[in-house]
Amino acid sequence: LKVKDMSAEVVDSNPYSRLMALQRMGIVENYERIREFSVAIVGIGGVGSVAAEMLTRCGIGRLLLYDYDKVELANMNRLFFRPEQVNMTKTDAAVQTLSDINPDVVLESYTMNITTVQGFETFVSSLKNKSFRPNKEGSGVDLVLSCVDNYEARMAVNQACNEMNQTWMESGVSEDAVSGHIQLLIPGETACFACAPPLVVASGIDERTLKREGVCAASLPTTMGYNSLKDYFPTMEMKPNPQCSNVACLERQQEYIVAKPARDAALKAK
Ligand code: ATP
Ligand code: ZN
Repeated sequence: LKVKDMSAEVVDSNPYSRLMALQRMGIVENYERIREFSVAIVGIGGVGSVAAEMLTRCGIGRLLLYDYDKVELANMNRLFFRPEQVNMTKTDAAVQTLSDINPDVVLESYTMNITTVQGFETFVSSLKNKSFRPNKEGSGVDLVLSCVDNYEARMAVNQACNEMNQTWMESGVSEDAVSGHIQLLIPGETACFACAPPLVVASGIDERTLKREGVCAASLPTTMGYNSLKDYFPTMEMKPNPQCSNVACLERQQEYIVAKPARDAALKAK
């Protein structure tokens, strides 16, 4: 059996022609602008690694990847990591795989715990680095995706994003993997993660007592919105809590209120 080597025909070194393939789907008009966007992903596990791969295949400009863990054989029941990557840090293994998939993406690997004092500082300063998008407003990234599996890490992302006025998305998957939630957080405009603490945290239960060996009890504390078995996906808006315990959240809430007249005028002018 002779198999024709198609590699020379398939590999195209021009990033824009690779993007054209996606553009041809015709859904987004200015699709090439995706190359100007920068996304930070915290937690390169079950959710984060797949989010990173999808963004890489879509042709995102830059990805910042944060995780403190190494690849283990136990992770092989998930997508993304490969057996030969066992013992590599998850962020380095991800950079290896993602750069093979799409060499045009600028990839940054941060192997660290974002909840330690030093880790948090590095996290914030890396998000503030504007070298990739010097002409855009705000921080150095367009979006932060929280794909972690514990409350402390979510609170660290919440703190950083409230301080920086950074839009972010929070995610959680249930233990049986058939339900989960997604939350969009725009500081000052929507509820922050501390505005409406997960029920289990509010009731003072230690999250660790929920976690069973080998399974992820990560997001049980948060409301499970989506149920894939029933294809049930309710959505709702959550306003920020004026009594939120997070000081930076209260500051963003004030700014949002002060800026309301200007926002309304701009909307009218449109
Ligand atoms: P499991 O928890 O079920 O064993 P997993 O380790 O792949 O699987 P996921 O829930 O799929 O975990 O992914 C969460 C990811 O978030 C993990 O890779 C974990 O290392 C990372 N993570 C959690 N907390 C932090 C933190 N404070 N700093 C950096 N990364 C974190
Ligand atoms: Zn809040």
